[in-house]
Amino acid sequence: MPRRAVIAGNWKMHATVAETRALLRGLRARLAAESPDREIVVAPPYTALAAAAEELRGSAIDLAAQNVHWESSGAFTGEISAAMLLEAGCRWVIVGHSERRQRFGETDANVNRRARAALAAGLRPIVCIGETLGDREANRTIDVVRGQARAALLDLGAADIETLCIAYEPVWAIGTGRTATPDQAEEVHAEVRRIVAEMAGAQTANRLRILYGGSVKPDNIDSLMAEPDIDGALVGGASLDVESFARIVEFQS
Ligand code: PEP
Repeated sequence: MPRRAVIAGNWKMHATVAETRALLRGLRARLAAESPDREIVVAPPYTALAAAAEELRGSAIDLAAQNVHWESSGAFTGEISAAMLLEAGCRWVIVGHSERRQRFGETDANVNRRARAALAAGLRPIVCIGETLGDREANRTIDVVRGQARAALLDLGAADIETLCIAYEPVWAIGTGRTATPDQAEEVHAEVRRIVAEMAGAQTANRLRILYGGSVKPDNIDSLMAEPDIDGALVGGASLDVESFARIVEFQS
């Protein structure tokens, strides 16, 4: 069975409540109704989630948060629990984004804890992995990505792995306008699928959706999506513009 594509927009620290409502109204007006071969997800900031859920009611667009803590409640200032995100209307959550890893000390072990907590609560994690420019130039891409994927999926069963998505996001391609070529992305995606086959078997690896992220734009989405192991995209900057994001959602491959 073909894998259903996922196009997810990571809004990062952009959009007030009013801006969120305007962007989502624009997207709903621009995008067709539900499509059997692709899922659409948007991840606004926490403060806009409740308003976004209202705007998205009855639409084909799902809501995601940008992070989640592994505990259900407690003295964790600044963190947010899976139950809180579910209550706000989220179905998905991004974990392990490279900005969290690089700027806020996120570790492989914590990414795994966050993913496990999200799954246990019924949220679908989008687990981000990816090498830095230094890793790539030192020919360490495959080693780094293997290590991150193994750590992120530690102790997860086949059903959990089939529920989540992995987003391969080379750090050097995020927000730089320098996207990986379809060949570069495909090489890593195929490797991730091999690791998952080793960990959880060929059937689960075959069902896992692996998204590419890093300067995805309307003019490169079609060639990326033509690759056999690229099952969707995690989109930063271009997800903040209705026309750009809609064109990415409407990729042709
Ligand atoms: C991201 O934030 O996950 C991302 C891929 O950003 P951009 O598309 O702007 O490179």
